Amino acid sequence: MQTKNILGVDVGGSNMKAAIVDVKNGELVTERIKIETPIPATPKSMAKVFVDLVKQLKYKGKAIGCGFPSIIMDGVCHSAANIDKKWKGTDVGALFSKASGRDVYVTNDADAAGLSEMQYGIGRGVKGTVLLITIGTGLGTALFSNGRLVPNTEFGHLPFKGDIAEKYVSKTAMRRDNLDWDEFGKRFNEYLHVVERLVSPNLIILGGGFSKKIELFSGHFDIETKVVPAEMFNEAGIIGAALYAHLRRPK
Ligand code: BGC
Repeated sequence: MQTKNILGVDVGGSNMKAAIVDVKNGELVTERIKIETPIPATPKSMAKVFVDLVKQLKYKGKAIGCGFPSIIMDGVCHSAANIDKKWKGTDVGALFSKASGRDVYVTNDADAAGLSEMQYGIGRGVKGTVLLITIGTGLGTALFSNGRLVPNTEFGHLPFKGDIAEKYVSKTAMRRDNLDWDEFGKRFNEYLHVVERLVSPNLIILGGGFSKKIELFSGHFDIETKVVPAEMFNEAGIIGAALYAHLRRPK
């Protein structure tokens, strides 16, 4: 019988986080560990951290799931916003598989978080269009139509205020512009209006580090769509990565 415990790794622009997840119920079965994303965040330096995470958790399984902060198609990285440009064109799955000696299944980090919320969390059973937005170093999105993922939407890179959205409404933007929660909330509301017009979602889920603090800035939201925090908060990325590997591995 296949093991139900799978290692999930959430690669972010600031941290690489991992835990072993029970994919039956989406619960962590080990502590969550994290290592800072190396600078520069090159394929070589990040593959080393990836292997360290696998070793630290003493993971013995074959399949590993990985959420990665870029457009990912068939395991290959097609963009590099908050990681080293050397990643573009790299087969992330092949690189991490070779480095760790396991089968590593890679998907976009926000898509991974979305998968976990739709399977085990607040999006469970929600029909129609659901959009998950992760607010972190960058701004990630995962779009679902009747429970089915439309991968690599990258709405954090929509043209916005003369630049792209994540330059205006990410955690990075908040720090750079020294925004308080009210100012951030107003900015985020402007962004919500754009995505609402774009896909008319039935539900918007906020994930990433800021999901725990939603009440500090959601008072400024005046869109029609209901906006709720991710039920698995910042752990959704790890859990969804493990789930992705479970769905992709040979049966
Ligand atoms: C990347 C996305 C990623 C998001 C969150 C963006 O800059 O382009 O692929 O999902 O950051 O990490």
